[in-house]
Amino acid sequence: MERTLSIIKPDGVSRGLTGEVIKRLEDNDLKIVAMKMIHMTRAQAEGFYAVHRERPFFESLTDFMSSGPVVVMVLVGEDAIKRYRDLMGATNYKDAVPGTIRADFATDIEKNVVHGSDAPETAAFEIGYFFNRFEIVG
Ligand code: GDP
Repeated sequence: MERTLSIIKPDGVSRGLTGEVIKRLEDNDLKIVAMKMIHMTRAQAEGFYAVHRERPFFESLTDFMSSGPVVVMVLVGEDAIKRYRDLMGATNYKDAVPGTIRADFATDIEKNVVHGSDAPETAAFEIGYFFNRFEIVG
């Protein structure tokens, strides 16, 4: 069993896609073991995306991620990191396979509805960034 961090980004929450994303997770055996809605400050978004500090889109991305509420979740399942990323689709929705969350709903390379950890080490960092052990039920 593997854990991964999922975020429904501000565009997903404001467009009313929270239920749709959660349905896809549950339909695909990705079990939610922690969940909350938060509105990140700019500094919190910068800390979360610190690995992208040098990227040209860092300022725009952290602006976007702190622009409204997000839903953060911990998912558990077999091969959860890869299976959730497969459900999400490619970063750029134009390259995403039809039927993936980003292909179906993203409007922009940045406003791409969801985030998912990309490796076990990043999952551990990202889960710990938002949740303490008492907030994770499985
Ligand atoms: P992910 O793991 O698929 O989310 O992709 P990355 O880790 O490469 O990038 C993190 C996030 O930065 C993406 O989900 C997008 O929201 C945003 N992003 C990635 N590439 C670009 C880009 O070229 N321009 C802009 N504006 N945002 C980007």
